Order: sequence, then structure tokens, then C-alpha cells
Amino acid sequence: MKTIGLLAGMSWESSAGYYRSINLGIKDTLGGLHSAKIAMVSVDFDPIEKLQHKGDWTGTADILCDAAKHIELAGADFLLICTNTMHKVAPQIEQAIDIPLLHIADATAEELVSKNIKSVGLLGTSFTMEQAFYKGRLQDKYGLTVLTPNETDRQVIHDVIYNELCLGHVLPASKQQYLRIINDLSHNGAEAVILGCTEIGMLIQQSDTDVTLVDTTQVHANKAVEWATK
Ligand code: GLU
Repeated sequence: MKTIGLLAGMSWESSAGYYRSINLGIKDTLGGLHSAKIAMVSVDFDPIEKLQHKGDWTGTADILCDAAKHIELAGADFLLICTNTMHKVAPQIEQAIDIPLLHIADATAEELVSKNIKSVGLLGTSFTMEQAFYKGRLQDKYGLTVLTPNETDRQVIHDVIYNELCLGHVLPASKQQYLRIINDLSHNGAEAVILGCTEIGMLIQQSDTDVTLVDTTQVHANKAVEWATK
């Protein structure tokens, strides 16, 4: 079994989900008392969030490249960045290390392609919904059509992530808002909706809606199990 590198803490609420999902996946695959071999560095999210909102992505890359090098030194065979948003600096992180990166957008797109989905809604932080590093990869590398909510609803999605979910607050009123926005995306032609922020699975599960959901935490964790055991 390979050692999975986790660049975690963004937020720790979602990293806890990764830890659990990966271990459940290894247990399912290998049975018995098997558990995942993980090398994890969990960063302090507060300064990173401040740099994000100032637009200082170089500052965030410095912190994450340093953490990624420690993960490599700790023996990881490959790396997961446990957040969609921080894949904004994935190219810099890939350059800083010699082990492969399991890109969250690739894991997500492969899941969509396997389900023959061509048009997909995307929920995430405004960085993820609006910037090319994520949406562009889905469109250019996989030929997917990516729909996002209108500006007002993008702000709702973004604020719930930072002001509630990253703090561990799961509120019924926010769940209703998210479900309304998911329905709107579906009516606008999305065949599935990407939960493109690693905390959204705390709020919305597949059992809440008939719209097909792709939870990025889950697909990323599943792919890590596949890479670790193949
Ligand atoms: N975990 C979130 C994501 O998947 C948001 C927190 C962050 O900005 O990293 O995008």
C-alpha cells in the first residue's frame, strides 16, 4: 500500500471527512484491520483565508509549498490538496515537490465522464466558481459545459462556506438555500451538480435531492484509495 499525502486544514472540518472517508475506503478494499497510510500536514486556515481574500495567492502558495515539502519528506507517495479553492496554486505546489499531485478537478471530471455527464453545475467558493483554474480545467481538459449560479447566489454559496461550514455550523436555512440553487442549476440544464468545496458535503447529501451530486471530498478520497492500493 502506498502512503497518501494530505495537505489539510482548509478547513479542518472537511479534512476530518477526508481522514474518515480514506480509512473507510482502505478498509473496504483491503479488509481486516487495514487502515490508510497517511502523511498529513494540517495548516492554520486563518492566515490563508486572509491572504485569499486580499488576493495574495503567492503568499498562500509559499505556505502550502512548504507544507507539501514536509509531506513529501514524511514519506508520502503522492499528494492531495484537501480543498478545491487552493488548487488555484496547484502548479506552484507541483513544482515544489517530486511526488505526483492527485488533482481534485481531475478526480471530479473522471467521475462525471464515467457517468456520461456533459453539462454540470458547480458550487464552491467564488474563487472556484469564477476563476479559470478550476472551471477552465473542467471545460478545456474534459470538454464539460460548466454552469454556475447567478452573482447573488454565488455570494450566498461563498458566505455559507466561510461564515458557517468552515466553522462547523450546519444550518437548516442555508441547506434550503443550497437546495434551491441546486434546483435552479438543474432547471438551467445541469445534468449533475458538483459540490466543489470540500465542506459542502456537511450540509447537502445525495438523499436531499433528486439532482445527481458529485461530492468532491468523496471522489477525491475514493481516488486516493484507488491510487494507494493499485
Ligand atoms: N474547503 C473549501 C474548498 O474546497 C474552501 C476553503 C478554502 O478556501 O480552501 O474550496
